Amino acid sequence: MSEQQYYVGIDIGGTNIKYGLFDDHGKVLYKEQRPTLVEKGPMPLMHLITNISERLLDYAAEEDYSIKWLGVGSPGAVDSKSGTVVGPCPNIKGWQGMEIGLILRERLNMPVYVDNDVNAMALAELKYGAAMGAQSVVCATVGTGIGGAVIIDGKVWHGAHATAGELGHMTINMNGPKCACGNNGCIEAYCSSRMIIETVKSKINNNMTPVFNELLEGNPDNLNIKKIFSAVKREDEIAVEVIHNTAKYLGIGMAGIVNLLNPEIVVLGGGIVDGGGDFIEVVTETIKEHAFSSAVEKLRVAKAALGNDAGFIGAGLLGLVNQSIK
Ligand SMILES: [Zn+2]
Repeated sequence: MSEQQYYVGIDIGGTNIKYGLFDDHGKVLYKEQRPTLVEKGPMPLMHLITNISERLLDYAAEEDYSIKWLGVGSPGAVDSKSGTVVGPCPNIKGWQGMEIGLILRERLNMPVYVDNDVNAMALAELKYGAAMGAQSVVCATVGTGIGGAVIIDGKVWHGAHATAGELGHMTINMNGPKCACGNNGCIEAYCSSRMIIETVKSKINNNMTPVFNELLEGNPDNLNIKKIFSAVKREDEIAVEVIHNTAKYLGIGMAGIVNLLNPEIVVLGGGIVDGGGDFIEVVTETIKEHAFSSAVEKLRVAKAALGNDAGFIGAGLLGLVNQSIK
């Protein structure tokens, strides 16, 4: 009988750092989260991640879980060989250039694998979640920002310079609204929670509906994404329309990606997908309307299955992937 393996992973998000320990079957045995506190700057954040890593490994040692490596998922383009953030990272200012792998390897004296957070999430969904058994997968996460990952022949596709999968910044309207990346009309400029809130706000400023009036106690400044989803559940016309349109924009972008890659499955995760309404159905319909029929005939579109744990589970699996490649 082979010995049970245990894994630890850390998922650095724009809002929270999530981390945990799990076994071979993807069963989470310990998990925790802490605020990312991005406003303190990149070095304090790196210290926090180092502390979390040490605590996580101490916990594993105390509980007698044997750990062979640490995995970390980070926003931004990550050179997975060195573990360095090589691309801009709008949600964590100053994060580009951070040598996460080098710093942690020196401090922890053990193998450390680092990759982009959505690449990690996609790996977790591939091994234990919605994409189990698939060879070609496109993942999109829809929340504060829009992330993406591509799996081809069972492996994450990093591209020539580690930036593959950034589908949030695909232009779908060259005259569209300004995006956080500086471009205009990106998918993210239509589908991020920030844009959903802005759109709803401008609509209710002109025409406050009874549902929003009650939810916001008459003050549009009380608007947030949770209130918008509450309004969707109560069939508020504005909320339903904005979420519907958001799903349409995402579907239009995804249709192009489906034509390009012809994946077996598209996995959608993140707060907006979980928020309810008919989001996933509208994305699916829109892909089917706009992509080649031969590419969509057998295409599956599914909700991510592992929720908030996917990021740290996928991070923990990074060593497995890198070892099997070697
Ligand atoms: Zn953009």
